[in-house]
Amino acid sequence: MSFSNLGLGEDVVHAVQRLRYIDPTPIQAQAIPIIISGKDLIGSAQTGTGKTAAFVLPILHKLQKHSHTRCLILEPTRELAAQVKDACNDFTAFSSVTSCLLHGGVKYEGQNKELARKPDIIIATPGRLIDHIENGAVKLNQIEVLVLDEADRMLDMGFMPDVRKIIGYCNANRQTMLFSATIPPRLADLIGWAMKEPQTIAIGQRSNPAATVSHVLYPVAMNQKDELLMALLDRTNYESVIIFSRTKIGADMIGNALQTKGHKVEVIHSDRSQGQRTKALELFRSGEVEVLVATDIAARGLDIEGVSHVINYDVPENPEDYVHRIGRTGRANRTGDALTIFTAPEQEHITAIEYLINKTIPRVKLENFDYTYTTLLQESGANDGRRKSTGSSRRKRR
Ligand code: AMP
Repeated sequence: MSFSNLGLGEDVVHAVQRLRYIDPTPIQAQAIPIIISGKDLIGSAQTGTGKTAAFVLPILHKLQKHSHTRCLILEPTRELAAQVKDACNDFTAFSSVTSCLLHGGVKYEGQNKELARKPDIIIATPGRLIDHIENGAVKLNQIEVLVLDEADRMLDMGFMPDVRKIIGYCNANRQTMLFSATIPPRLADLIGWAMKEPQTIAIGQRSNPAATVSHVLYPVAMNQKDELLMALLDRTNYESVIIFSRTKIGADMIGNALQTKGHKVEVIHSDRSQGQRTKALELFRSGEVEVLVATDIAARGLDIEGVSHVINYDVPENPEDYVHRIGRTGRANRTGDALTIFTAPEQEHITAIEYLINKTIPRVKLENFDYTYTTLLQESGANDGRRKSTGSSRRKRR
């Protein structure tokens, strides 16, 4: 199966070739013909499966002539919206289709200028889009294609009232696509209301982390978490690592501690300004900074190439966040390691994660680390530092 066999026009296929995509991924092979045929679509797929191209490519194929705004793509976070905008820029290299990015945290002026040029596609987060609609800068009555991306995340983040309001402004004769890892009952309501006889495709389940990621737990006493984190970083042969913290304060503290130790580090969470978040991602993507400390906002869908390791400073309370966090590594079939620091009060979260992924995650101990006693070490039977990939004494590459 090739991209041209899927019914895409020449300029779109050309753009894909320029990006050196050879074969369509499974979600692309299934979704593209359905979207071209004009049917509504519900797609569920793990992140890193090529989901963005699965909807952007056929949309570009359909929107050949430029006239007015005909497509709206809604995203839960600014980072995801920016990522989809980047993909649109890549895919429109040989077409006249234009797109515009609308999200909060930046001035309205630049966005208003772009809107005045009547972009074919708007990629937006819900809050800022509603502001523009209410200011009269955006009209959605000519929308032909609506994409609700990461719909379960929009639900979790409390955006559903805004999303419903936005859908209400869209042309009723539109094609609607919804991408979501799971379809909880509250989404089923929305689907019944907003979609017409949707086709459904499912590629993998979110409860299966990428097969290329190896993941382990490091049980430790509460008062040794920071020490263990430093030791893990010191002894891990990483190229780039994302450290996840459940809280913003925790992320800032880890960032400061690492900086004091001489690490080049950036921190990303929702209290940081848009400028700081964009800069942090740029520095991390370019490899100038090897360590990114993030809260879960960064875990969803961020496409950062070549992350060799993910370290969870704490166990996420929501088991699905675990799968998202460790999904940052092992993308596009690279192998990656996910290390989770785990203390006794977090046992119930680990139980929930292991239940979700239907697998026991190995407990390991870091060799030559001066552990203080915790019952967890006894109970878990953590093996004594014989883990090859991270528990070794190899120094990290600089
Ligand atoms: P996504 O799931 O949309 O976040 O995509 C994950 C990564 O896969 C991105 O870096 C894409 O550029 C890349 N990608 C998407 N489709 C293909 C393809 N058919 N062949 C190779 N890489 C792809």
